[in-house]
Amino acid sequence: MIRTASLLLLAVLAVPHGALAASGREAAPEGAFPGAPAQYTRFTAAELTRGFLALAFGSDLRIGAKPSGIRKFDHPVRVRIYPGGSVDRVAAMRRIVEDYARAVPTLRLSAVESGEPDVELRLIDEKHFRAALVAAFGAKIARTFVQRTNPQCMTSVQSSGDGRIVRSVTFVIVDKGDDVFFDCAYHELLHAFGLSNHDQQNPFTTLNQRRMVGYLSVYDRALLTMLYDPRIAPGMTPARARAVLPEVIAGLGLAIQPPARKRQGR
Ligand SMILES: [Zn+2]
Repeated sequence: MIRTASLLLLAVLAVPHGALAASGREAAPEGAFPGAPAQYTRFTAAELTRGFLALAFGSDLRIGAKPSGIRKFDHPVRVRIYPGGSVDRVAAMRRIVEDYARAVPTLRLSAVESGEPDVELRLIDEKHFRAALVAAFGAKIARTFVQRTNPQCMTSVQSSGDGRIVRSVTFVIVDKGDDVFFDCAYHELLHAFGLSNHDQQNPFTTLNQRRMVGYLSVYDRALLTMLYDPRIAPGMTPARARAVLPEVIAGLGLAIQPPARKRQGR
């Protein structure tokens, strides 16, 4: 039963990605769009903790009751792709869902072809984006959201007062090129699963709106794996999450030791 509901609207902004630091990185994986950035693949516990605390709490625009903390699904997640738009991206979108399912098994993610899903993935052309927002959320919310964030793609996350996600709806633009499509698709699915916020200071995540990534990075996979660890519970406060994260990160073997500090010269 849902006692209180909250709706989060989350956007990808159309901004170019910035330069990455030059060490400890690998090329973008095969299948990424041409020009996709390289990625860092090994992180310290502090880097993972900082990213998790920044991205698993808060959001661009909250409507309704304030969620009490962590938001996540507490049951297997069924995703349904709703085809649309002038470019056929269904097969590509299906592969992205499969990518998430494989990379984060604890999501217990599956694609369904019919029935009520937990995550609606709606593929649309950009020119229909605002109308789709109005149809989904009403004119007032859509207008407020567009004014505040100038979105390119978006996700709404409806959760119960105790932090369990009830349903997510994601709109992904299909007709503005591979980079926009892949960036939106990977970025918005992170939101749909409960990483609701952005961090424009974080050089590793797809949820930095100054970057276009377009694949599931090792970093974001780690954050999602942390979120779906059983020790991280729906509704958990930032303080409680901070307390259990060292055990979660160690238990999952996600972190490397921080590099030894270089000695100062003579
Ligand atoms: Zn976003």
